[in-house]
Amino acid sequence: MKETTEATGSGLDFTLTSDQQMLHNLAREFTRNEIIPRADHYDRTGEWPRDIFHTAREVGLVNINIPEAYGGIGASVLEECIVAEAMAYGCSGIQTALMLNQLGALPLIHIGSEEQKARYLPQLVEDGKIIAYCMTEPDAGSDVAGIKSTATRQGDHYMLSGGKTWITDGPVADFFTVFAKTDPAAGHKGMSCFLVERSMPGVSTSKPLEKMGQHAAQTCQVFFEEVAVPVENRIGREGDGFLIAMQVFDRSRPPVAAAATGVAQRALDEAVRYAGERAAFGRPIREYQGVGFLLADMKIRVEAARGLAWKAAWLIDRGQRNTMEAAVAKAFCADAAMQNAIDAVQVFGGNGYSREYPVEKLMRDAKIYQIYEGTTQIQKMIILRELYRA
Ligand SMILES: Cc1cc2nc3c(=O)[nH]c(=O)nc-3n(C[C@H](O)[C@H](O)[C@H](O)COP(=O)(O)OP(=O)(O)OC[C@H]3O[C@@H](n4cnc5c(N)ncnc54)[C@H](O)[C@@H]3O)c2cc1C
Repeated sequence: MKETTEATGSGLDFTLTSDQQMLHNLAREFTRNEIIPRADHYDRTGEWPRDIFHTAREVGLVNINIPEAYGGIGASVLEECIVAEAMAYGCSGIQTALMLNQLGALPLIHIGSEEQKARYLPQLVEDGKIIAYCMTEPDAGSDVAGIKSTATRQGDHYMLSGGKTWITDGPVADFFTVFAKTDPAAGHKGMSCFLVERSMPGVSTSKPLEKMGQHAAQTCQVFFEEVAVPVENRIGREGDGFLIAMQVFDRSRPPVAAAATGVAQRALDEAVRYAGERAAFGRPIREYQGVGFLLADMKIRVEAARGLAWKAAWLIDRGQRNTMEAAVAKAFCADAAMQNAIDAVQVFGGNGYSREYPVEKLMRDAKIYQIYEGTTQIQKMIILRELYRA
């Protein structure tokens, strides 16, 4: 989408363009009609929401960051935030499953060659293929540079060996964006990025891992046993993998922060509704300041969270460095989602602990925001590093 938010004379404007407003309406309507009615089913079964993915693809709500030349709408990071928040409001597990393609494709979109883009991006948009993002290993999560997978050059191929874990959409992925060491002795400068196809001999996946929440977003281990990856499937230059991963984070963290905001907003809305209806000691519980202040604090967190996510997105969309702001947004929005979910459960009392009410799921789903895309502690390390960077 080419149209962007125009700055006014004051230099600041929170108004969405008409295209962005239409996208927002589309995402909210889709959430209301397609996600919310099925959220409980996918939460209970842990099935991957294939039908919702394909409907979302048909209406243009997945793969949105893929440039128009390759079939996408070339959405800005802010536009990704708008869609992510709207969908996560309905079910953050389904939202994560649907929007993972946008993370998996980021290295291709921003670093890939024209040939690589022309070969793979249309397959995501037109054929509904799925791409997963493979960085984490059993012994290296926060410590990205500590990965052990190797890719050893042999003529026109790299031999890729190693194992990844916690790979979202791994069970259903057709393609994997994989980080591996091409020069293990060179530390983080020895890492490279590859596009690996599931059909390549030596690629396999485990069954989905059982987890606390976001059940619709299946994750698994991915194994690479002497996989011959053509040199033309290396994304970027040899040794650029760590740099690519850091660039990806600057673009992926704002939409994750926005998704967390969607969870925080849902928790607030559910709590406001319930507190207005539930009576105790002869009065609606919202009339008790102890409950009312929980609601007010939840609202404060939602507003602050959205503002931070949007600012981080807006900066990178303008071509400005946003590493600090993306880390601030990710850390704050994750905590906002978690705290709002906890407080919503409190407002619901015993019913909050029941699977018959929506807030129990919110609490299970919210926790992951403090862990994936870099834990809260890692965001704080980045913030600290950025504070002293100047
Ligand atoms: C549901 C789910 C989906 C995921 N999806 C993906 C995916 O699609 N692709 C992918 O590559 N990865 C994925 N991940 C992995 C995720 O990014 C990692 O789990 C995360 O980065 C943390 O790594 P770790 O689990 O190894 O924890 P560790 O790195 O072992 O950290 C353990 C604890 O120590 C803390 N810690 C670590 N180092 C420091 C430090 N220097 N200072 C202070 N505290 C520190 C951490 O904050 C954390 O609290 C997913 C994980 C989950 C649970």
